[in-house]
This record gives sequence, C-alpha cells and structure tokens, in this order.
Amino acid sequence: MNYELTKVEKLLRGEKKPLVLIKPKFRFSANGPCNKCPLEQLGLKGAQGEVFSDITRKDKEDPKAKKLFKEASALYKEANKLYLSGKHKYEYIQIFSGKRSSRSQARLFVKYAWHQYGGPKANKANPPGKSFHEYGVAIDIIRGNDTRALKKALESAGWRESVEDEGWHFEAQSIDSWNMIVKKMMESTFPLGEEYRKAISDFLNKRKLCIELWPSYAKQLSRLRPERESLERRRQELVRTEKQLRDERTDLRRKREAATRSSQLASQLQRKYNEMRYTYCPANPPADYEDCTHKEQTSRYDRERAELRREISEARRKANLLRNEYRLKLKKYESNLSRYKSDLKKYRIDIDSWKEKNDKFLKLENRIENVRKGMKTLKRTQSEILRNIDHSIQQIVK
Ligand SMILES: [Zn+2]
Repeated sequence: MNYELTKVEKLLRGEKKPLVLIKPKFRFSANGPCNKCPLEQLGLKGAQGEVFSDITRKDKEDPKAKKLFKEASALYKEANKLYLSGKHKYEYIQIFSGKRSSRSQARLFVKYAWHQYGGPKANKANPPGKSFHEYGVAIDIIRGNDTRALKKALESAGWRESVEDEGWHFEAQSIDSWNMIVKKMMESTFPLGEEYRKAISDFLNKRKLCIELWPSYAKQLSRLRPERESLERRRQELVRTEKQLRDERTDLRRKREAATRSSQLASQLQRKYNEMRYTYCPANPPADYEDCTHKEQTSRYDRERAELRREISEARRKANLLRNEYRLKLKKYESNLSRYKSDLKKYRIDIDSWKEKNDKFLKLENRIENVRKGMKTLKRTQSEILRNIDHSIQQIVK
C-alpha cells in the first residue's frame, strides 16, 4: 500500500520557510526616489537677486548697484544720472538682478537646463562661471513704461545690450577692466563652467531616467505585494492540508490493522472449530458407562460448537465492517491527496512565476539605486566645481 504522501512532503519541504517579504527601498511619492534629489537640493538654496527690492521714492538709485563691480557701479551711476536728467525725475533705473553668486547662477542654470528635459519653463541662463552677473559687470533691469529712455541712458553711459531677445540684460563693456575680466574668465572660469554644464547634463539625464523608471517600479511593487500575500496564504493552507493528510493516513493504517486483526481472529476460531473433536465419551464405552452422562456431554459439546460458530461469524462481520470503513476512508483520502497534489502543483507554478517577476523587480530596483548613486556622486562633483568657480571669481574681481 503506497499513500504517496512522502513524495509530496518532500515537495513541500522546500517551501516551509515563508517567502521573503518585499520591502521597497524607496519612498513612494509622485516622482519616487528622484524627489530625494530635487533641483533645489543641489546646494543651491536661498533666493538671490530675483526679488524686487523695496523701492521708495526717496531713493535716487537702486541699492543693488552698490554690490556691482566698482567700475560697473560707477557706470550705473552715470546711466542713472542721464536717465534722471530727463523727464523721469523720480524713477531711477531699477535693477531686477545685478551681482549674483555662483550658487545663484547655478540655480538659474539648473532650472533652465531642466526645462530642456521637460521641466517647467525657465529663462535662458549661462552655467556658473560663464555669466557676467557673477563678476558684477552685468545687470538685468526692470523695464518700465519708457523703455526707450532707459536704453538710451544705459547705452550712452557705456552699457551694452548683448544678448538677443533679452532686452533687460546689459553689460558694462566700456569699463577699463572689461578686457581683463573677459581674458581671465576665458582662462579659468569658462572651462569650469563647461565642466559644470557637463556634470549637470549627466545629472539631469540620470534624474530623467530615474523619473521614467519610477512608474514601472511602483506598478510592479503594487502587484507583487498582494500576490505574495496570497501565495503565503496558499502555502499555509497547503501545510495545514498536508498535516491533515498525514493524520488521515495514520487513521487508515489503524483501521487496516484492526480489520486484519478481526479477520485473523475469525481464522483462528475457524481453525479451532475445525479441530474440535467429540472426546467426551469413549468410542467403546465400558459396560457401566452411564447413558445420562453421555447425553449431558453431547449437549455440552453441541453448545460449545454453536458458541464458537457465533464468535466466528461475529469476528467475520466485524472484519468486513472495518474493511468497508477502511475502503471508504481510503477513497476519501485518495481524492483529498490528489486535490492536494494538484493544488501544490498550481502553487509551485505560481510561485515560480512570482519569483521570476520578483527577480525582474529587484533588477529594476538595483538599476534605480545605481542611478541614484550616480546622482549623488555628481552632486558632490557639482559642489566642488562651484567652489572652484567661486574661488576663481574672487581672484578676478578682488
Ligand atoms: Zn542678465
């Protein structure tokens, strides 16, 4: 008799341990892990230059002009004087953005660069180290009602509108130090600015990739988790059924043994019955043998034989009963076993496919992590370049 449970037990043994729980490495948000490195965290915090200054009618010049490069500051004063000598007695030339820190320039540049990757609209901006604003020799003015007068005053003083489509941007190209500044810029900060541009472009490429990968990551995870939970429930159910089947099998063995015992008892009694001999009276009774005693013995012999016959039939009846019960239980057990085996087979197929999907998911997770690592490295590179740019500018405009 083969119940085949051992084989099945072996199959399940590998699945005794619960599956590894998926713990997502990244926090869930609109842009996923890419949000951990937002543009604002590129070491570019703090507003500078973009805020409208508090203008009072008493002021005769924009306070931002004082922060410009010395010669450019003088050039502003000149232009402002020209402007005020016209009909604009109470309105000086307002500077929207004058001298900028490299950090502030970098923030503008990153915003502009991100726009090329589908980010929100942003004004054109040079990378840090490549803007005249950082040297205090360029201004962006607020254009009022009389743009023509503003331009005329600025240009008469020596300011040049050098960027096409940017009517607000003026450079102090007529100052004595202009050529020196441009020459030194070319030597030191321009290459650094290009380095920075390259680092930002690498960084934004990675950021874009990360944002592109994120929805698939989130989708895969949201599917894999409930599937894993349902598989775990099925595994527990299979373990329960396996235990039940083992109990049933023990019960079956007991039933079979009891049936065998009964049937052995019946055979034993049958043998005893077959061997039973009438030995109470001698074959040739002596002359004084009492007939009544003989009769008594005969009836006792008959009684004993009848009793034995009854015991035999009782044992046979019991054996039959147990055997029938056993057969019924065996049938039930076999159908349970085959259902269990097919459930197990389905479970194993499903778990294999789940594992395959999980492997794919882990690969994607790994990829995102690598992209993020690359972003972190580039972030450090950017800060380093920015520090170098700052240092070079200090050297030029000291
Ligand atoms: Zn400008």
